[in-house]
Amino acid sequence: MNGHFDDYSPRLAALCQNLKSRSDRWRSVDDWPAESLALCGEADLYRWFHEARWGGWEWAEADVIRGYLQLSAACLNTTFIITQRTAACLRLERSENEAAKQRWLPDLVAGHSFATVGISHLTTSRQHLAPVMKAERDGTGFRLTGSSPWVTGAAHATMIVTGATLDDGTQILVTLPTDRPGVSVPRPLDLIGLSASATGSVACEQVRIEADEVLFGPLPQVMQAGAGGGTGGLQTSTLALGLSRAALDLVADEARRREPLQPISETFERRWEGAVEHLLGAAREPGSRDLAEIRREANDLVLQSTQAALAAAKGTGYVAGHGAGKWAVEALFFLVWSCPFGVIQSHLCDWSAAPTIVND
Ligand SMILES: Cc1cc2nc3c(=O)[nH]c(=O)nc-3n(C[C@H](O)[C@H](O)[C@H](O)COP(=O)(O)OP(=O)(O)OC[C@H]3O[C@@H](n4cnc5c(N)ncnc54)[C@H](O)[C@@H]3O)c2cc1C
Repeated sequence: MNGHFDDYSPRLAALCQNLKSRSDRWRSVDDWPAESLALCGEADLYRWFHEARWGGWEWAEADVIRGYLQLSAACLNTTFIITQRTAACLRLERSENEAAKQRWLPDLVAGHSFATVGISHLTTSRQHLAPVMKAERDGTGFRLTGSSPWVTGAAHATMIVTGATLDDGTQILVTLPTDRPGVSVPRPLDLIGLSASATGSVACEQVRIEADEVLFGPLPQVMQAGAGGGTGGLQTSTLALGLSRAALDLVADEARRREPLQPISETFERRWEGAVEHLLGAAREPGSRDLAEIRREANDLVLQSTQAALAAAKGTGYVAGHGAGKWAVEALFFLVWSCPFGVIQSHLCDWSAAPTIVND
């Protein structure tokens, strides 16, 4: 048992080394990182996030952040998948649905099965359109019809936490077993980065959901009413800073041999340390920091440091398969992954030099 971060550190270092040495293999939608995820299970990583009653270690958020920083520097693809799995599990854990918890959590926390989350259509995706996943009452349960546009690793999951909107505008959040009649998972999308996260849509055609599979709702805005969600949490900023760490290690390595790069590397290092300090401060004292500011700096750092790594690696870094080019593309993910609109506005004003904020 390594239930505390400091005791666990040597295991984490060994795990990260293993994840890093495999990370180049996870490139296309056909390269699901089963081996890396299994290594995480063997290292008891899934226990970090959960209550002791499910076999978890109940790590403090600051410790989870310290862990995620190292994992995402080693392999962003695998770490991102873990965040989606954890998002599903934590919603399950926070619900009052004891039957659903008993059914899914013990295996998930032990790393014996994989679950994921398809909730963007309730939060950040398709918000300007009519609901894309609808629910109708069916006796004591519901029937779901429609699709969830973005679900990471759906084809590898036994269960998806997803949501749907009823005719009266209220919403439910449910556990959707992927083998339920009416559920289909098309081939994942080819993405410019993180394709091996096997992300794509999940379709439902008159899928029966039992009453004891409802985690939250029906409620107006179910994601704001206990189910958590929305944008602007610390996890996205953490993964951005983790990827930035990988890029800055390359810059530092080049700077050791090239004197003009030294002040660049040192300045980046100071900014990175400052950003991590803010991040950990926000985790230790909730409400003490501006989360949008943290995300904005994390985004700036990941975009700028990965480009600095590419510039330092020169043409060699532009050859397919080199880390610098891969990281520069992966960094763009942070512009589209749960990014609060205020942060996007601030980037857009910065890049365009527009004097005013544009409303969406
Ligand atoms: C690699 C990856 C993995 C992901 N994994 C998951 C996951 O596992 N689970 C999950 O829940 N989510 C996931 N997401 C979803 C993510 O968090 C965001 O919800 C998603 O990036 C939002 O993008 P969208 O194109 O769907 O947005 P939308 O807002 O639907 O935009 C789509 C298009 O609509 C148009 N548009 C946008 N806004 C307006 C407007 N106001 N008026 C008119 N037209 C407009 C634009 O042309 C835009 O290109 C993932 C995303 C990515 C990229």
